[in-house]
Amino acid sequence: MPASPLPTFDDVRAASTRLQGHALRTPVMTSRTADEAAGARFFFKCENLQRMGAFKFRGAFNALAQLDAGQRRAGAVTFSSGNHAQAVALAARILGMPALIVMPHDAPAAKLAATRDYGAQVRLYDRHTEDREQIAQSLAAERGMALIPPYDHPHIIAGQGTAALELLQDAGPLDALFVPLGGGGLLSGCALAARALVPECKIFGVEPQAGNDGQQSLREGRIVHINPPRTIADGAQTQHLGEITFAIIRREVQDIHTASDAELAAAMRFFAERMKLVVEPTGCLGFAAARRLGASLAGQRVGVILSGGNVDLPRYAQLLGGAEPAA
Ligand SMILES: *Cc1c(COP(=O)(O)O)cnc(C)c1O
Repeated sequence: MPASPLPTFDDVRAASTRLQGHALRTPVMTSRTADEAAGARFFFKCENLQRMGAFKFRGAFNALAQLDAGQRRAGAVTFSSGNHAQAVALAARILGMPALIVMPHDAPAAKLAATRDYGAQVRLYDRHTEDREQIAQSLAAERGMALIPPYDHPHIIAGQGTAALELLQDAGPLDALFVPLGGGGLLSGCALAARALVPECKIFGVEPQAGNDGQQSLREGRIVHINPPRTIADGAQTQHLGEITFAIIRREVQDIHTASDAELAAAMRFFAERMKLVVEPTGCLGFAAARRLGASLAGQRVGVILSGGNVDLPRYAQLLGGAEPAA
């Protein structure tokens, strides 16, 4: 069991109040085409339309907003190169705090620029010789900055859970909920909300087929570590669940499914063509798995979290064009 107490639904509700006026209440969309194909009713929570393009803003803002005055002056540090980095950078800017993001020196120029555009300072490191977590930890210790991890933190988890809270408020009760899974912040937070509001709702995590550490962990009852998976779902290339996220996931989640890169690309095409939505590969995990389950969802009300929409346009065009997805 983790050292700190597990967050609860009350924490998700408190996060929801904190986020008011800062996070967007993203729309819940439906699709007759999707419904007819599965004989189910789908409700898509469009976090691809969230500020900075992903749900990660929810957790980052909820965490930074709870820092005390001294910590706010010192600022926040984190070590992600993906959506969490931009989320921390944006939340820090809104709260008037400095942010320092530890990123690999070979990170895509667009990502470095986006992070700096949000006003964050970037500390580059060499991914072959340096350990980013260690760098972030010593910077935090030296400068008194708050280290904001990407998923295994009660305030991050509670913030991410507000996505499912809003989905259930807007769509009404659901029989099943499908949530993309990396380190488990989104899934565990959403599970707290869904379990409290609709106790009989079945909650499913979905991860890339090439990196099914969550599925293995749930089956073995311990956190399984894997090598970095090769997949187009770059937001879910995590190597293991967190202690807090795993404790909630094993208590609340029915099962963890996987989706192949080809299934993710097909789901991306569906969202672009039928719903006019740009969804990044990781954001397609939930629907890709729900589609595969098809007939077993017949007659059910199914929630799906579209977790993000940040994808380089050349890559997006390549995937939409139906080219073999290269990881
Ligand atoms: C981070 C991320 C995920 C995975 O979230 P976890 O909390 O790490 O499980 C899924 N989708 C997108 C778009 C992300 O950025």
